[in-house]
Amino acid sequence: MGLVSKMKLKGTVGSRGDASSLLRSPGDAVLVQRGTPRWLLLSCPCGCGAELPINLDSRAGPAWRLYQHSTQGLSIFPSVWRDTDCRSHFIIWHDKILLFVRTDEDFQSPGRTQDIAALSEVLRKKIPAVGFVSYVDLADSLGAVPWDALDACRHLVKNGVLREGFGKQRGMFRRI
Ligand SMILES: [Zn+2]
Repeated sequence: MGLVSKMKLKGTVGSRGDASSLLRSPGDAVLVQRGTPRWLLLSCPCGCGAELPINLDSRAGPAWRLYQHSTQGLSIFPSVWRDTDCRSHFIIWHDKILLFVRTDEDFQSPGRTQDIAALSEVLRKKIPAVGFVSYVDLADSLGAVPWDALDACRHLVKNGVLREGFGKQRGMFRRI
């Protein structure tokens, strides 16, 4: 299990230049928005002090998806993996940062049992009768945050409803 910390959204600004002064502690974040969300700037949760620019604008290259929810906070998909310097690997999920201790560590829920039980019931009806389906496609079909869908799928695995694929089919689920 990774380390869980809080992501603190310090504000929304119009340009990257306005963001740096707001990033003081690990996990501090600033959203750069001009019409649409452009960047999430994050002070690296590992504490190395690096300022990580997370691109949210698909017109500007490979982009992360941003999910903003009025009560549950902000999520980013997929995970963020620094391939230089500190090599931090983490996910941002409902204003929480799950920092993986080992780079190959798997995603696990920090515990939201009731929500997950409800989502699992909805999601269960979306699983095709045969073949594998990815949790991302399931999330998209429900308008859900993919991390929630993954968590719900794994919940259904635990309950003996689904089976998860191995190797390249990790994150793919089918009925048992
Ligand atoms: Zn770092």
